[in-house]
Amino acid sequence: MDQRALVLFSGGQDSTTCLAWALDRYSIVETIGFDYGQRHAIELQCRQPILDQVRTHSGKWAQRLGPDHMIDLRVLGQVSDTALTDSKEIEFTNTGLPNTFVPGRNHLFFTFAAAVAYRRGLTTLVGGMCETDYSGYPDCRDNTLKALQVALTLGMDARIIVETPLMWLDKAQTWRLAETIGGSRLVDLVREATHSCYLGNRESVHDWGYGCGSCPACELRANGYRQYIDSADPA
Ligand code: ZN
Repeated sequence: MDQRALVLFSGGQDSTTCLAWALDRYSIVETIGFDYGQRHAIELQCRQPILDQVRTHSGKWAQRLGPDHMIDLRVLGQVSDTALTDSKEIEFTNTGLPNTFVPGRNHLFFTFAAAVAYRRGLTTLVGGMCETDYSGYPDCRDNTLKALQVALTLGMDARIIVETPLMWLDKAQTWRLAETIGGSRLVDLVREATHSCYLGNRESVHDWGYGCGSCPACELRANGYRQYIDSADPA
């Protein structure tokens, strides 16, 4: 098994859980983030405080967590017309997808991640994509990511493994995974330090964390947290 991983780390719940998952498994873990002209930079601003807190979680994690790589992909915002990169209402388009879908985003992210991994000698890319209770984004599907793994491995003539530990989990199970890996301390970190809200709201606080409470990302996060709490062992 390969011991060196690069985690696609946005500062959200899913990628933070993936980071913990990777720190549990790999001896060297580096992180990569992308500025693609997101409407709200709040998620990106959450990254460094999360990394700082993750470092204090245990001596093992502090030793394993390597450098963070921040990549400027604002060109993606320039070629996109979406509710994540422009000020517009979130709605469904006639393709059946919400206009929060940024076409090509994960293709670009993984290609740049693979280029950084190649340079750094890291062979596993870890991403928080999930097709269980996702928004239908086609670039989050398991098949898309398996195809990317093949394309990157062939195109770089180097074995690139794409790991997506959340692919078949719903949001309640993602909360549960955080607890399994890092106990209530990691759940608290995810609740308080990560950001998922599409509207960038960090003023309203709920039991599941910060956010507007009504955008699709907040609804998913809040419902998952409720299910997670309800399914907890009452003892
Ligand atoms: Zn929200």
